[in-house]
Amino acid sequence: MSAVLYFVFCGLIGYWASCRGRSAILWAILAFFISPLLSGIVLAIMKDQSMQASISDLQMGQQQLHDRIATNEKMTEQHFQQLHQQIAQQGQEQGKLPPAAQAAQPALPAGSSQPRFCANCGTPLAPGERFCPKCGTKAEG
Ligand SMILES: [Zn+2]
Repeated sequence: MSAVLYFVFCGLIGYWASCRGRSAILWAILAFFISPLLSGIVLAIMKDQSMQASISDLQMGQQQLHDRIATNEKMTEQHFQQLHQQIAQQGQEQGKLPPAAQAAQPALPAGSSQPRFCANCGTPLAPGERFCPKCGTKAEG
């Protein structure tokens, strides 16, 4: 085997090593000192680090994505909490003022309809009363 060919093999081993995610210089030197064939076999047996690196990159990317989603969830949650607080504050501020909606709603007892009047004589009818107390006309509804 000529010296030139030997160097070419060492270079090839170095190049191959770099393709597999390993140090090209280290493996070229290793091939030079041991033997290109032996180091080539060792390199072939050893796990492809470039593949592992890409897998770990993927896993890292996934982790980052998870973190980002978690952060987004937290931010959304905080946003909602802030919204809730704002709504609560607005409600309190509205509670200090006498709002028409709040004043009107408690005036009507729950479940009761609007005040009714007799269709015939116009007498106000008590809730639940089915006949007019004045003229005896049957109440609507
Ligand atoms: Zn009546």
